[in-house]
Amino acid sequence: MNSPALEQLRAALRGQLVTPADAEYDTVRRVFNAMIDRRPALIVRCLNTADVLAALAHAREEGLPVAVRGGGHSIAGHGTCDGGLLIDMSLMRAVHVDPARRTVRAQAGATLGDVDRESQVHGLAVPSGQVSETGIAGLTLSGGMGMLQRKYGLTCDNLLSVDMVTVNGELVTANAEQNTELFWAVRGGGGNFGVVTSFEYRAHPVGPMMLAGIVAHPVEEAAAVLEFLHEQIADTPDELSTDVVFLRVPRLEFFPEEHQGRPVVAFFLRYAGDVEDGWEVVRRFREFGEPLIDAIAPMPLVHVQSMLDPANPRDHQQYWTSEFLPRFGPAERETVARIGADLPSPETVMQVIPFDAEPTRIPADATAFAHREESWLIHIVGQWANPAENDRCRSWVRDAGAQLRAFGTGAAYLNLLSGDEADMRVNAFWSDDRLRRLAEVKAQYDPDNLLRFNHNIPPAPAPAKDER
Ligand SMILES: Cc1cc2nc3c(=O)[nH]c(=O)nc-3n(C[C@H](O)[C@H](O)[C@H](O)COP(=O)(O)OP(=O)(O)OC[C@H]3O[C@@H](n4cnc5c(N)ncnc54)[C@H](O)[C@@H]3O)c2cc1C
Repeated sequence: MNSPALEQLRAALRGQLVTPADAEYDTVRRVFNAMIDRRPALIVRCLNTADVLAALAHAREEGLPVAVRGGGHSIAGHGTCDGGLLIDMSLMRAVHVDPARRTVRAQAGATLGDVDRESQVHGLAVPSGQVSETGIAGLTLSGGMGMLQRKYGLTCDNLLSVDMVTVNGELVTANAEQNTELFWAVRGGGGNFGVVTSFEYRAHPVGPMMLAGIVAHPVEEAAAVLEFLHEQIADTPDELSTDVVFLRVPRLEFFPEEHQGRPVVAFFLRYAGDVEDGWEVVRRFREFGEPLIDAIAPMPLVHVQSMLDPANPRDHQQYWTSEFLPRFGPAERETVARIGADLPSPETVMQVIPFDAEPTRIPADATAFAHREESWLIHIVGQWANPAENDRCRSWVRDAGAQLRAFGTGAAYLNLLSGDEADMRVNAFWSDDRLRRLAEVKAQYDPDNLLRFNHNIPPAPAPAKDER
């Protein structure tokens, strides 16, 4: 392990080199999904761009494949690997806000919480996901969905620029003016093209207070709740994010004690506008039927964005699936309601997310993120504490996924899939034309597929000699 090359790498770093011989190796190699137990040969915990360059040079010289980790939240385990070199960006998490230009620059190890916290100092928000410890990097590169998407689009739709180190050690900036094909590819094409060191985003005036919370009904009423959402969504202003969530009422003070632990189906409402206007917009969801719990209140945006954190602890086994359904008619709703009434563990959650409004108004070829059709994203967050439950719960999620797939087109949101599915679904997410275009970009920036622990796009083959 202490070869001269390794000592040279260690000496070149401002950050830390962690090998299997180090005491902290087992802590540092852990990722969010406790089901993933991989052992990289080396972990480089980068503190700056020079560290990334040194790590990539070592990987090239030693012929090691490279995994890249931001927040470590990839359920598929793409933020680690067996035997390769892991570039861990999680110590690089500075965020700088330019309030005059309404832009936010975040280092690639920043979490959603880091970005929200700094942006809110200036009353701004970058559209992102909904659990504050998720990494901005993996989320942005493969799309990025969350409560502001109906109004402002996906996270990748708000990306203005990336700074990246290529596997050959070149520093590139990709934006609307420079390296435009790469800029197209990093907005949905995942971590295929290089190691991003920082992202620059467009931010929007939202907060600091928002109206948010859940209105929950007994799970037996799921069919009626889903039908109501289906009827209402077209007339719902873009400012309102209205998912339906199947869950057990969290054991949190916020909820009445007598309902904690009970399976419910809930409107999960978040209004990204003036709080007074919000009360009027959410009224019809609060007046529907006879809710068991009506827990809507004004609260700071950063609380809204971390509301689901307690339901997503780090030490759980995770097996997820997702499916975009083009229609959400009676047969689809009945299937979703049946699945949601029978979740395999107290921690498992299913989310029904209308995919409409701003993300569907953006032209399909503007970004590599391929799915722009109005549809319904069904996301099963299979999670449980005890590894002895893995076989039973995983089979349940697979079976539920197969039932949903019967109504789908094969398109899934790749960021919400476990490893076996994530690999299979890459081709279904992109059309042949788009895959070819992505493969060309991959061939330009990573021709040997050094970066392969991701939603992998094999590089286009080099043209034969007589075609050159
Ligand atoms: C609890 C939880 C909640 C979630 N909520 C949402 C949500 O609300 N909305 C949503 O859209 N998604 C959500 N996700 C999915 C999330 O988008 C993915 O898990 C994403 O991969 C997380 O990014 P990360 O940086 O934490 O992942 P990591 O595991 O660190 O990285 C995943 C992959 O991203 C790429 N990558 C990471 N950093 C870099 C870099 N610097 N340069 C190049 N490539 C890089 C690599 O390919 C890497 O393999 C959630 C996931 C979890 C676990």
